[in-house]
Amino acid sequence: MKILSPSPRLPVPQSPLPQSTIKIMAYAHKITGAHPINLNDIDPEDDQGLDREEGEERLRALSEELTQLQELLYAASDHSVLVVLQGRDTSGKDGTIRAVMGPLNALGCSVASFKVPTAKELAHDFLWRIHQHTPGLGEIIIFNRSHYEDVLVVRVHKLVPEKVWRARYDHINHFEKLLTDHKTIILKFYLHISKKEQEERLLEREQEPEKYWKLSVTDWNEREYWNDYTRAYEDAINRCSTPHAPWFIVPANKKWFRNLAVAETIVNALRPYKNEWRKKLEVTGKEEKARIEEYRRQLKVSKK
Ligand code: AMP
Ligand code: MG
Repeated sequence: MKILSPSPRLPVPQSPLPQSTIKIMAYAHKITGAHPINLNDIDPEDDQGLDREEGEERLRALSEELTQLQELLYAASDHSVLVVLQGRDTSGKDGTIRAVMGPLNALGCSVASFKVPTAKELAHDFLWRIHQHTPGLGEIIIFNRSHYEDVLVVRVHKLVPEKVWRARYDHINHFEKLLTDHKTIILKFYLHISKKEQEERLLEREQEPEKYWKLSVTDWNEREYWNDYTRAYEDAINRCSTPHAPWFIVPANKKWFRNLAVAETIVNALRPYKNEWRKKLEVTGKEEKARIEEYRRQLKVSKK
């Protein structure tokens, strides 16, 4: 399949929310594995005809809704959420975390970043260091890079034999199935920027002293492998997109649109659970109230 369009805009059935907030708009391209994708078919510049002001206004509304959903997720503690952020250098992983996850309650939300593995990590299977950071019930964990590095940088730089990294797609699919069987909602994002945009962002860093800490000659060197990374990303996305753990390709040349698309995807994924979480809270609330009443009754009896 060559031409890709975002998933259709569907109304959500039986939602108690006002009409204006219940449209699923799909700014990101959802990949479920049914058709292989080609990254060159997706425009990193895409903004779906929105302007920045409009986009930022929509993001504010989604942020508010996400905050409420997080509170319910945390309180009901019946599911966990794993957000995987992948993308080339300068694609905006840190910026997305700041803009989309920043407003959330730190009590139930944190970030795990995966760097070059330590000697101890390398002495284990590639998922060992990852599994320790997956979210528990009620939590949202954002992965800044992830187990996918083991089929990306590792493949491009031939850090292990091909036979070893090739086997990892299956390992990843099984691992993610295990997590979703344990009520983890998995959302994987590829922040899609163009080569030109990356160059501009890298050069911009050199002009701004407050961004000097991000400077790295590795980023320029990695750029030389642009096409190898494209192939590695396409294979990772095509081989590890499943209905239970889909990939979302986010046009990310425009930062405001990238933030909007990620926020919207997360809200759309969590919204269907809202009633279920509310019901669970009601049940546990009633049970606990009954216990409090019983406690008071016993207290009265013992004071007589
Ligand atoms: P940064 O995200 O800029 O802090 O850089 C982290 C670096 O760690 C990137 O260059 C990644 O490619 C690298 N990295 C992350 N995971 C792995 C891995 N499993 N094997 C090799 N390098 C990795
Ligand atoms: Mg870097």
